[in-house]
Amino acid sequence: MARPLAALPKAHLHLHFTGAMRHATLVDLATRHRAHLPDALRADWPPQLSAADERGWFRFQRLYDIARSVIRTEADLRRLVRETAADERAEGSGWLEIQVDPSGYAAHFGGITSVAELVLDAAAEAAAASGVGIGVIIAANRTKHPLEARTLARLAAGLAGRGVTGFGLSNDERRGNAADFAPAFRIAARAGLLSVPHGGELAGPASVRACLDELNADRIGHGIAAAQDHNLAERIAGRRTTLEVCPASNVALGIAARPADVPLRTLLEAGVQIALGADDPLLFGSRLTAQYELARHAHGLPDETLAELARMSVRGSAAPPAVRAALLAGIDAWLAAPDPDQERARAEARIAARPPAESGVPGLSSGSRTGPGEPRKLT
Ligand SMILES: [Zn+2]
Repeated sequence: MARPLAALPKAHLHLHFTGAMRHATLVDLATRHRAHLPDALRADWPPQLSAADERGWFRFQRLYDIARSVIRTEADLRRLVRETAADERAEGSGWLEIQVDPSGYAAHFGGITSVAELVLDAAAEAAAASGVGIGVIIAANRTKHPLEARTLARLAAGLAGRGVTGFGLSNDERRGNAADFAPAFRIAARAGLLSVPHGGELAGPASVRACLDELNADRIGHGIAAAQDHNLAERIAGRRTTLEVCPASNVALGIAARPADVPLRTLLEAGVQIALGADDPLLFGSRLTAQYELARHAHGLPDETLAELARMSVRGSAAPPAVRAALLAGIDAWLAAPDPDQERARAEARIAARPPAESGVPGLSSGSRTGPGEPRKLT
């Protein structure tokens, strides 16, 4: 067993609101509200997805919308946030930035302002109960009119000192022109919010460039298309823009055929800051630690690099200085602890190097209960 990745302190910067819901909670709320769930969200969960074309993306979005529709009461919403914070804690996350488009919940909660205020209140309550710090990212939908984004940016700006930490742009990046959303991002930036649009997941390097040039991105949701353009990757590294890379999401949506095809190494070698994220565990079936597991097993990254990924997630976050310092110290402590694999290898080497006289009665070692075989029971 190697160092446990759930114990590695980290920040989680790419998690959508409904997408964070536990599957069991989705089923429970759907039952309570007598809402129909398709098989892909019930017996056949997690769903088989693909976003290779607009049809695939439409299906993903439709499932997301169905899942969102079960959040109808204040108690439902508070439960979602409370359970998410508890799950984050179990994943070793000490700081979460959860992304929400309030307009998607407005119908049940009396408008976007009351949704945003309720989310902030629920986040503060969940943070206090779990010990996980929570920032809220208000995200606009790029398939809607840019004026709606401006309204959301003004809402986000007004809540900047009350738990909103960033402004995002989500949904199908092949639709809508990033430049049209620049005025909204300027409103958010003037209020001191981080610019965190999605880009370079479903579309190519041009979409990543638009996030940098038009929206002055501090972080980019996904951004993996930058791996196709070395100059662009170097530019991102130079300006220390963090890419929120979500390996399980890339595989589930067919952006990468296998976990090993997510261009993690290419981006790291170019010096890009990367924060691993889970995106939508409800639809992709895995949470934050699983992304670090993929980095370890599919990409063969050693613990030093996994610890550096965790540091990058903290550095790219909006976490307050005390939270950052505590997380960074925790990461150092995780790495300083002995690697159980190396400890075991050293113990086995010591046993193998023992002179025969030490290993018990000569001639009995193969069947002896006190011979060299015993310490191997530690495995
Ligand atoms: Zn996302």
